[in-house]
Amino acid sequence: MRGRLAPSPSGDLHLGHAWSFLLAWWQARALGGEIVLRLEDVDTERCVPGSEASILDDLTWLGLDWDGPVVRQSDRAHLYQSALETLRAADLLYPCVCTRKELANAAHAPHADEHEQGAYPGTCRGLFTDREQALVASGKPAAWRVTVPSGRLAFEDGCAGSWSEDLSHTCGDFPVTRKDGQVAYQLAVVVDDAEMGITHVLRGSDLRSSTLRQKLLQDNLGLPHPAWFHVPLVVDAEGQRLAKRDPCLALRALRDKGWKATEVIDWVAASAGQKGTPGRSAKEWIRDFDPAELPPGDVSAPVIQGH
Ligand code: GLU
Repeated sequence: MRGRLAPSPSGDLHLGHAWSFLLAWWQARALGGEIVLRLEDVDTERCVPGSEASILDDLTWLGLDWDGPVVRQSDRAHLYQSALETLRAADLLYPCVCTRKELANAAHAPHADEHEQGAYPGTCRGLFTDREQALVASGKPAAWRVTVPSGRLAFEDGCAGSWSEDLSHTCGDFPVTRKDGQVAYQLAVVVDDAEMGITHVLRGSDLRSSTLRQKLLQDNLGLPHPAWFHVPLVVDAEGQRLAKRDPCLALRALRDKGWKATEVIDWVAASAGQKGTPGRSAKEWIRDFDPAELPPGDVSAPVIQGH
């Protein structure tokens, strides 16, 4: 059994990360498995300098460890390239030159309801042979999109049960690279999870809608499916998912206010329905961890004094 912690170095970790990372770490350790740390830094424009060091420091402060060296997606472009070549050789990709604006207009056009709002209507399918030819023909840079079959696809969520979706209606053909050729999140995660031997993916329920795209790519590439667990989210007073821009719920801010790691751990354990003596380290909670106690719905962040 091998799980993973997969933070993006785009800002400081907050309580929502402490929640999902502790749960992923407890799951792996309680099953006697390994857990790896992967920094998801493919989206270079979103990466914040200093964030990687701060993430490693916060994880260590929480008492989390990981097996093997830290993996950085930015070191793995060759693996993503080879997956792209496999998909291309199977004729599953096509270049797309549509701009965000054109896609937004298409969604508001008459008959847009043929596809649910936001699903890519397939405009560029069959138009170009490769990105270079697309650029010459259209004058615009192209991303690679993968062709999505119609029909319902399903997976079993270890937290929420069966989940099914017709991707051709909910998202349509989706990008596996950006227009500058950089790999997109969906493909990078699939390549990495397989190459790193990940068997258990535990992450926030905001990523549940990505899972069938990832499963489709796994099938296209002949890669195994991990078991998926999408845990409830930590939400603010307005019911919104915490974002890296909520500074008062950053672990760094809580540490500056004098919070101890055991207070964060106690809050996560209690919110996750775990029963056990408070005040213990992350490691000391492992033997009590019971995923069956997780709440079904989202969890409210604590109100921080002084905010
Ligand atoms: N790096 C992603 C994030 O920080 C997580 C991706 C995943 O767990 O698949 O939201």
